[in-house]
Amino acid sequence: MTEAALGAAFTEVFGRAPEGGWAAPGRVNLIGEHTDYNDGFVMPFALPHTTRAAVARRDDGRLRLHSAATGIGAGGVVELDVARLAPGATEGWARYPAAVLWTLREAGHPVGGADIHYTSTVPVGGGLSSSAALQVVTALALTELYGVEPTRQELALLCQRSENVYVGAPVGVMDQIASACCTEGHALHLDVRSMAQRQVPFDLAAEGLRLLVVDTRVKHAHADGAYGELRAGCEAAAAALGLPALRDVAYGDLDAALAALPDDRLRRLTRHIVTENRRVEEVIALLDAGRTADIGPVLTAGHVSLRDDFRISCAELDVVVDTALAEGALGARMTGGGFGGSAIVLLEESAEERIGSAIDRALPQSRRFTTVPGPGAHRLG
Ligand code: ADP
Ligand code: MG
Repeated sequence: MTEAALGAAFTEVFGRAPEGGWAAPGRVNLIGEHTDYNDGFVMPFALPHTTRAAVARRDDGRLRLHSAATGIGAGGVVELDVARLAPGATEGWARYPAAVLWTLREAGHPVGGADIHYTSTVPVGGGLSSSAALQVVTALALTELYGVEPTRQELALLCQRSENVYVGAPVGVMDQIASACCTEGHALHLDVRSMAQRQVPFDLAAEGLRLLVVDTRVKHAHADGAYGELRAGCEAAAAALGLPALRDVAYGDLDAALAALPDDRLRRLTRHIVTENRRVEEVIALLDAGRTADIGPVLTAGHVSLRDDFRISCAELDVVVDTALAEGALGARMTGGGFGGSAIVLLEESAEERIGSAIDRALPQSRRFTTVPGPGAHRLG
């Protein structure tokens, strides 16, 4: 949707002109899964798919929200009283933007009411972080309009806090950082403990490569509860080892750490996190050395670890990964939280049609697209 069309849609809903338009992308995580809440390393990049918001301030303390996303916001405009926002008090999709506004105000920022109309090209519920795109575009628009100037990192942390406290989901910070801080043509290496960021050039086309994103279009029902259990399990493993976080288990000390843990589940969770942090470092070293094709086996090893140790893959994700590899993909893995959502496949340009068609046949419900790293959140126009 063009900026003019976004503004026209806003006007149709709210009967006046917006003050501006903003966009924030969804993301895929190249490598580093479930490591963010273990103080570890992640490496997402922004998708060219974005959630866009047309926004105008209101001075009557009301927050009015409308979304064009299919099946969402079909109930029309959601109207909320800014002074009455409270954790747990908002239902449905509107809780994400409401949470952002509440959290900004809790942090002492002078942000008030607004009319907001959203459109999005990020698949919703596909593990590509449409929720973080929604949060980040809202936070960016409100802070710019109300003259608040947080850094991108502060903005992402506010969005994460809004999801933790207001929405009630114990998520890590990767998705919000990705949407707020990624840059075109790069994957973002984030050390979640220090919050140090490095933009790592990730130019697939230069090496005749492609990255396919395959949305399985399934999300198994237990996904949200399982996330909290996995996080609690990782924290229990770190506590049993007397460490602040599993990040603190050095790769060379993994066997000793496993021997010290009391049960198999904690051992599996620990092995995934420690080897996954190692895989992030391997991928960075390969990209820095200009050996992009060689990251394939590292991605695949990440999938095996998520499937067998962390146990968050599912039949549909495994079908995509197995089919891609059987057809000659360089590497493939599930990406995101697990139990459905999307997989990524690294392949040679010349193999794209063959591998893509094989995936279509193996999982007809899936939707796929080829992608490159796009820009982070920004103002339109
Ligand atoms: P993902 O982030 O993987 O797409 P989530 O379940 O975390 O999946 O987030 C999806 C939810 O976020 C939706 O159910 C809806 O509540 C909200 N959401 C995302 N994008 C939009 C949008 N464009 N308009 C309205 N709500 C949205
Ligand atoms: Mg999400």
